[in-house]
Amino acid sequence: MAKRKIITGNDPVLRTVCAPVQKITPGIVRLLDDMVETMRAAEGVGLAGPQVGVLRRVIVVETEPGNVYRLINPEIVAQSGEQEGPEGCLSLPGESGCVKRPMNVTVKGLDPDGNEVTVEAEGFLARAFCHETDHLNGILYPDKAEYMNTPDPDPEEEKMTPAAYRRHRAAGKKSR
Ligand code: ZN
Repeated sequence: MAKRKIITGNDPVLRTVCAPVQKITPGIVRLLDDMVETMRAAEGVGLAGPQVGVLRRVIVVETEPGNVYRLINPEIVAQSGEQEGPEGCLSLPGESGCVKRPMNVTVKGLDPDGNEVTVEAEGFLARAFCHETDHLNGILYPDKAEYMNTPDPDPEEEKMTPAAYRRHRAAGKKSR
């Protein structure tokens, strides 16, 4: 396994809709292992292909240490309920926001051996699968946030509307 570089900021790679994996090659299996290593090194709970510059529909999720999911062509096939809570992203370091997600999701995909896998996820795990599958469609969580926490908290204004957040990013992070 090898650690890969995590793409951050306004990189258009993070805004690209990823292509399905047609064939599970040794390269795809290695990619998933590398993504697990990269996620753990960064102390994240999930990572998607585009975050390491690979525009393929692959994700890894590990909300409980040791219980890691490596999914190819994942799809959320059912969802129910609602939860609202804080979310962050390894590609948007130092930022967080409040995002509404379903409380329960059913995720289908393939494991690295090509077996069909169905995961019934609840709570934080459901949130992680929603976040990671969004990445495969070029969606970042601030797009869906109720509000963003200001990166530089001002006691007068601790929350930022999504529109204010977009202006903040456009204005302040061009040099990245
Ligand atoms: Zn993310």
